[in-house]
Amino acid sequence: MSTNLFIELGDDSPLSRIKSYFDALQNSADEYLFATDLSTGQVLLSKNFLRDFDFPDNVVEDFATLLTPFVWHDDREIVEDAFGRLDSVNPGIEIFCEFRLLNRNGEYGWVSMRMTASADEYGQPELVAGVIARMDLKLKADYITGLLNRNAFHIDLMKELNSSPDAHGAVIFIGLDNFQLISETYGYEFGDNALRQLAQDITNILPPDIRLYKLDNDMFAFFVADVYPEELEIIFSSIQLCMREIRNIEDTIFCTASGGATFYPEDADDVITLMRYAEVALEFARQKGKDQIAFFSTEYYDRWRYDIGMQNLMQNSIARGCEDFFLCYQPQVDAKTGRLVGAEALLRWYDKDGSVVAPMQFIPLLERSRMIIPVGHWIIENAVTTAKKWCQIQPDFEVSVNISLYQLEEQMFYEFVKDCIERHELNPRNLVFELTESNKVYDWDFVNKQFHQFHELGIKIAMDDFGMGYANLAFIKNFRCNQVKIDRAFVEDILNSEYDREVVKHVVMMCHAVGMEVVIEGVEDEATYIYLRDVCDADIIQGFYFGYPETEDVFEKRFKQ
Ligand code: C2E
Ligand code: MG
Ligand code: MG
Repeated sequence: MSTNLFIELGDDSPLSRIKSYFDALQNSADEYLFATDLSTGQVLLSKNFLRDFDFPDNVVEDFATLLTPFVWHDDREIVEDAFGRLDSVNPGIEIFCEFRLLNRNGEYGWVSMRMTASADEYGQPELVAGVIARMDLKLKADYITGLLNRNAFHIDLMKELNSSPDAHGAVIFIGLDNFQLISETYGYEFGDNALRQLAQDITNILPPDIRLYKLDNDMFAFFVADVYPEELEIIFSSIQLCMREIRNIEDTIFCTASGGATFYPEDADDVITLMRYAEVALEFARQKGKDQIAFFSTEYYDRWRYDIGMQNLMQNSIARGCEDFFLCYQPQVDAKTGRLVGAEALLRWYDKDGSVVAPMQFIPLLERSRMIIPVGHWIIENAVTTAKKWCQIQPDFEVSVNISLYQLEEQMFYEFVKDCIERHELNPRNLVFELTESNKVYDWDFVNKQFHQFHELGIKIAMDDFGMGYANLAFIKNFRCNQVKIDRAFVEDILNSEYDREVVKHVVMMCHAVGMEVVIEGVEDEATYIYLRDVCDADIIQGFYFGYPETEDVFEKRFKQ
């Protein structure tokens, strides 16, 4: 390259007049920019030309000659022709062409070049503004954040893995928690702006040699060579701090991030598997409660695959009218007399090998996939049918049904329940709704409003699992219910633990004081039952001592005894 093509700008040249504007512009553009003074042929180049083509200076005499060696030989004529048309260009007319240009990695990629002339005070063409844009970059960019997208991530990670036989590092996916909800609540424009801002913030806090990519929806990714889990945890903590800041845009917005990481070559050494593992690890972080980073493990992966398989099977089962689901009923007895007063409906599912799966294994899956909505309808339809039948034998008999939060969020849930009760002509007093997993409630007003409607209909409301997790005194204050079910955990050890005895006794007293009924779950032996009956003054007892959960047919024999 002949260096005498690089020159100094004259003070009074039109290029000097626009130079500061040009300098500002080039800092915020990915494209190559140039401006040509048509009277002198001098050209001002943006700095990325210097970086990518090793030009020593950004003012040149003959740009076409400089650029041509970097153009794919078959396309050189196109470029020469475009520059040739500048001799007779009219102001406002765009000269456009596409050609292949060498990039920094030594590969040719397609670019588009646009040149437009501006006029001087006499209307004559004076300056030409030119832009060369990499088309491959456009195809690789995420249109909201401007970050490179999933395709680019794939290609760059492949290059990293192939860069050396001992390539070693980690792939990290970052997912924004509840971001969908934020977009839905505050509008997609707000969501896009937040994404853009986060992309900037995360880019700024990442070490300079780490590039951030934007994958689908609200997921970011990056990879780091030669890194240890502890270092990743530090990087992730600083990303969490970015999240804290977005919360301040509006007081009510609470957005956190979860991360999933996998290591190469330890976990896998190909792009597809690594990307899948990072996603699985991210899912793991979310399941563990979000706002944290999780590392890939084969143990979790196997469970995840098992869950996916089960989810598919359950989906099929639902499509066939919840064919492989069935309800068991566990007796509830009056604590004082031992008389059968009701039953709790407990869901079961037949796996493909015919074995019965317990709800703790599949209810979380149904909830996550929202399949709990159709299954929930099926449960209520069946429990109401059964309740109607049993009430005809024993008019005060109560059937309790577990209701998960996700069911309450369904728009038509109330209408469905009301219609179901009316169709079966069931007295709502024969039905109890138990709120399970109240630890997931973040909006008690909403939950109370939903349950209030059912209460108005005449359905009894119960708080399940009292004493477990977060279902505690504070929640009783928040949740208006008729019945409290004390969890098995408090009863298990009651004969040995003075503390548990005192807690149960006082919870019963307190509930009675505010007019709530108390059910004690998990009673497995006579001594426990007697203590609960005589000392604790419990109202209803449920537990293996009085009966295991049984199928409808088996349970029905109890009425005939
Ligand atoms: P839960 O509502 O607290 O139900 C009581 C659980 O304790 C049942 O487990 C029952 O079999 C068990 N249990 C009852 N008495 C005893 C006892 O004396 N000893 C011991 N060791 N266990 C006893 P199951 O059927 O496995 O259900 C577990 C949980 O799954 C339920 O806890 C409930 O949260 C959920 N679940 C069950 N059916 C449904 C349903 O139809 N819908 C929803 N949303 N959740 C359900
Ligand atoms: Mg229950
Ligand atoms: Mg319970």
